[in-house]
Amino acid sequence: MDLHIAGRTAIVCAASKGLGRACAEALAAEGVNLVINARTSDVLEQTAANIRSRYGVQVTAIAGDITTTEGRDAVLAACPAPDILVNNAGGPPPGDFRSWDDGDWHQALQNNMVSPIQLIKAVLDGMIERGFGRIVNITSGAVKAPIPALGLSNGARTGLTGFVAGLSRQVAEHNVTINNLLPGPFETDRLNATLAGAVKASGQSLEQVRQARKDTNPSKRFGDPDEFGAACAFLCSTQAGFIVGQNILLDGGAFPGTL
Ligand code: NAP
Repeated sequence: MDLHIAGRTAIVCAASKGLGRACAEALAAEGVNLVINARTSDVLEQTAANIRSRYGVQVTAIAGDITTTEGRDAVLAACPAPDILVNNAGGPPPGDFRSWDDGDWHQALQNNMVSPIQLIKAVLDGMIERGFGRIVNITSGAVKAPIPALGLSNGARTGLTGFVAGLSRQVAEHNVTINNLLPGPFETDRLNATLAGAVKASGQSLEQVRQARKDTNPSKRFGDPDEFGAACAFLCSTQAGFIVGQNILLDGGAFPGTL
């Protein structure tokens, strides 16, 4: 299926690895030119080189922390008028809410709510003027079903979701869509990091904990990041213009609700 976005330009944040990288690759496979970002320069440059050679698109790598003003400004200087924005950043650490002070909360809100909103603010009016824009926020299944140890994530990401629910309806008439993708367990570095707590608490090996977690999922496996990237690319397609303000859960069926 041709998504009719070849030649367009996308900013994909936090994209040297994992889900962000998978989104970047899926867009590149459709002929989209990229500006990708992550903090660790050498890993980012390697990813950029791989995508360039595999898909033949232009890939600009901008190293920096996307949760800071400087990091976002650098990305926007490289691509002030993107057609597509994929918001992403690392997730907050797990823990007990009794141990989180104002600083912990401000950091989580900055990373997973305010930073994506500031990027949206920077690119949205240009998208409206040009009559095309696709914004996808990578959030979490925790927005739909809170994860007890990830209270910072549950809170901050739900804040972003509430904001986007309103804004997306204000801009849809201009062919600018904003949607959220909610990952369940996907096979990435972040997944293993979040399972580390269960390893410690249970005394089991990482592999045992991983298997137990897979066994609880109706699909009996973790998600493949490429599956996530494909969903992102579709939301960025020309054909997806009527999908507005949605929260699309990719969790292998883990959420047990009918709707
Ligand atoms: P990952 O495999 O650890 O990859 C994270 C990517 O983001 C790396 O490229 C990393 O590179 C970059 N990054 C992290 N913080 C950044 C920052 N402040 N500025 C710029 N780049 C940054 O993680 P992932 O699994 O893809 O997760 C992506 C998002 O989905 C996270 O918010 C995570 O919490 C959420 N999520 C993931 C899962 C899952 O199962 N994988 C489930 C639910 C939610 P550098 O470290 O070099 O910056």
